[in-house]
Amino acid sequence: MSTIKPIFELLDSKEYQHEQVVFCHDKNSGLKAIIAIHNTHLGPALGGCRMYDYKSEEDAITDVLRLSKGMTYKAAMAGLNLGGGKSVIIGDPKKLASEALFRAFGRFVNSLGGRYITAEDVGTKVTYMEWILQETRYVTGIPVYLGGSGDPSPVTAHGAFVGIKAAVKKVKGNDDLNGIKVAVEGAAGNVGSHLCGELDKAGAKLFVSDINNEALQDVASQCNAKTVETNKLYDLDVDVYAPCALGATINDKTLPRLKCTIIAGAANNQLENEVKHSEELKKRGILYAPDYVINAGGLINVYSEIRGGGKDHAIDKTENIYNTLLKVFALADKENITTSEAAKRMADKRINDVSLTRNIRQADES
Ligand code: NAD
Repeated sequence: MSTIKPIFELLDSKEYQHEQVVFCHDKNSGLKAIIAIHNTHLGPALGGCRMYDYKSEEDAITDVLRLSKGMTYKAAMAGLNLGGGKSVIIGDPKKLASEALFRAFGRFVNSLGGRYITAEDVGTKVTYMEWILQETRYVTGIPVYLGGSGDPSPVTAHGAFVGIKAAVKKVKGNDDLNGIKVAVEGAAGNVGSHLCGELDKAGAKLFVSDINNEALQDVASQCNAKTVETNKLYDLDVDVYAPCALGATINDKTLPRLKCTIIAGAANNQLENEVKHSEELKKRGILYAPDYVINAGGLINVYSEIRGGGKDHAIDKTENIYNTLLKVFALADKENITTSEAAKRMADKRINDVSLTRNIRQADES
């Protein structure tokens, strides 16, 4: 009994407020999964399935609750009719991933009747989505040859590119990237490499880092970029720092070293502490493009897979990230709040306003 109580306390707390958390267990395949549905006011909860060898069940629960809440805000700010959800499978994918395990997971997803739609995330890949697809239609991010939208990374990168333009417009008065100095962290990654390509074409001066040195050299030569040691990237005298690797790279140690005037990149959870570090950035006059606003291209891409519209529609909608960010910056100025707080208020308002329309009685309701 005592293990259940803290979970409901968590769900009830102001920080989380989740609708539903499902624990899935299949002894035969070794599946131990948690599906968290944060909020479905705007639509079905969509979010990837992460497979990771968590140190404890508590770590897995914290991760799935935090990630699913982030998806609610990302979808709301992208103007999508989607709620926020996420799932985690506990275990090392190299040791545990199997057809039976992912098909068992697919059956649990299916049992939710479309309240949760799954996708790829850290530790899972397209092959696993194909296994899930054998058991449920509530899976997205499947390959093009199966009718899916394929790799979302180029779309995410394009969203980050237009997001950088919006931030440059706010700081410099126009969005011309010619000669603008950008430091891209994780430049050899799926998103980072596409972003470097777009920035180079626009005339930006690039500084790039990645722990994968061989792939980094390729990106640098293709994009006329200067390579930088990973830890030295924070000290560069650049206009824009674009985090495209891991989360929490803006923290107590790195923040005082930053000389940029803009942070705009694709990584999730860039600020180690959302409130503290967004306030510190504001104090230092560094404009922060909230991560879940600027990196929504991938989600927009899979949305087009489930709702139709195709790649062109996904790109069009992704380009709207430019206008959305300008609105976030304007609200932050008007209310003298951080850009993180401004984005949160805009997302909350859309969720609340759309929810209230459900009060309008329909003729077929008793
Ligand atoms: P990826 O794994 O392809 O790329 C990440 C890159 O970062 C890799 O090349 C890796 O070597 C590098 N890296 C790791 N640690 C580093 C360090 N300390 N310094 C410099 N480089 C380092 O991942 P991705 O799909 O390109 O995603 C990048 C980020 O964007 C992630 O935070 C991801 O959650 C986020 N994101 C991705 C998408 C998408 O469509 N792929 C969508 C939304 C958000």
